[in-house]
Amino acid sequence: MKTNSDVVIIGGGLAGLAGALHLSQKGLTVTLIEKSGYPRHKVCGEYVSNEILPYLHWLNADISKLHPAPINKFEFTTRKGKTAFANLPLGGFGISRYQLDNFLYQKAIANGCIIIKEMVTNVAFDNDLFTINTSNQVLSSKIVLGAFGKRSNIDQVLSRDFFVKKSPWLAVKAHYYGVFNNDVVALHNFKGGYCGVSKVENDIINICYLADYETFKQYKNIEEYQRNVLYENKHLKNVLENSTLLFDKPLTISQISFDKKKPVENHILMIGDTAGLIHPLCGNGMAMAIHSAKIASELVLDYYSGKINSREELEKSYTKQWKKHFGKRLLMGRLLARVLKNKTITNTLVAITVALPALLPAIIKQTHGKPIAIH
Ligand SMILES: Cc1cc2nc3c(=O)[nH]c(=O)nc-3n(C[C@H](O)[C@H](O)[C@H](O)COP(=O)(O)OP(=O)(O)OC[C@H]3O[C@@H](n4cnc5c(N)ncnc54)[C@H](O)[C@@H]3O)c2cc1C
Repeated sequence: MKTNSDVVIIGGGLAGLAGALHLSQKGLTVTLIEKSGYPRHKVCGEYVSNEILPYLHWLNADISKLHPAPINKFEFTTRKGKTAFANLPLGGFGISRYQLDNFLYQKAIANGCIIIKEMVTNVAFDNDLFTINTSNQVLSSKIVLGAFGKRSNIDQVLSRDFFVKKSPWLAVKAHYYGVFNNDVVALHNFKGGYCGVSKVENDIINICYLADYETFKQYKNIEEYQRNVLYENKHLKNVLENSTLLFDKPLTISQISFDKKKPVENHILMIGDTAGLIHPLCGNGMAMAIHSAKIASELVLDYYSGKINSREELEKSYTKQWKKHFGKRLLMGRLLARVLKNKTITNTLVAITVALPALLPAIIKQTHGKPIAIH
């Protein structure tokens, strides 16, 4: 049966766009379906680990054109303002999703990918073929990559376990002008959450935090919540009081789940947050999203070239590789998040890292990968 393209990708965030670039660069036909337009802001800390640079280079995506802010230092503060510093073992850069996603989208168009701006409403697998329904059309393909992010209507369609469980986490993000060191990413602890502060392009400061809904709902609005809860940490009070908001109002998302997900479901290879979301305090989700697209794309190419003989082998290989690259990191992220929920342990941890400066980079290394190898 004639299909629409070799691969259909559902979702055009970093994972979906990286997959589209990779597969089209290697000669496969790709249709990517994204419900929203470009460019647009997304809730994200926008600190990208350098581990991804060799791969972006291989994709011909020279992000230096976007003038990202180079970042190589890390600052961690407790609610009471105690501070630990570390040099980031690998370093990274700050770039807004507004710029980055749009840049990769333009590249995907230039590579000949078909990009449909519609919402996928259903995806079904039958007779070794996928049928994908959008609001306006029906497509078919032998391979579908699921890149629809942390929470989507497609998770519901697939009856994925995490979707029905209530999550206690929400997140808030905005851009500001103000005074903040260019080369630092700061993580400030506050009651029930943590807040990242770092620069992106054009001297803009990104302030993005994860907060527990239980505490958040006790306040009338974001301003009141920030004044009463975030301001308890003097570093956050200082940066928020002395910065000018560049958005009409901060962006918010809720129901952020860190539950385990399966990397393959209903024969769809899941990439990026769709396969599993690492705690944002690790600052590594974007690199993982892009890296998982590379792993899936290479295997799909092997499947089409006949190097992988069956769909079963494709799915097994992807699951194995996904777990090998990301399993330990996600576990570390979960452990760290649990530790940071406890005020006493957090204070002790900071005291220890101040006394033993090598400890913090060692912890950071556990949540990050090595620079991605290109063969
Ligand atoms: C508070 C917070 C802070 C973070 N900070 C950082 C950080 O500093 N550094 C870092 O590396 N990571 C960070 N992350 C993680 C990072 O944002 C994600 O890991 C990354 O965005 C994953 O990209 P993705 O492509 O998987 O998903 P997304 O970027 O969410 O893309 C998914 C896309 O799918 C589309 N979609 C969904 N459903 C459908 C449908 N049915 N039809 C069509 N399209 C659909 C959506 O519109 C969306 O564009 C943070 C996350 C949070 C929550």
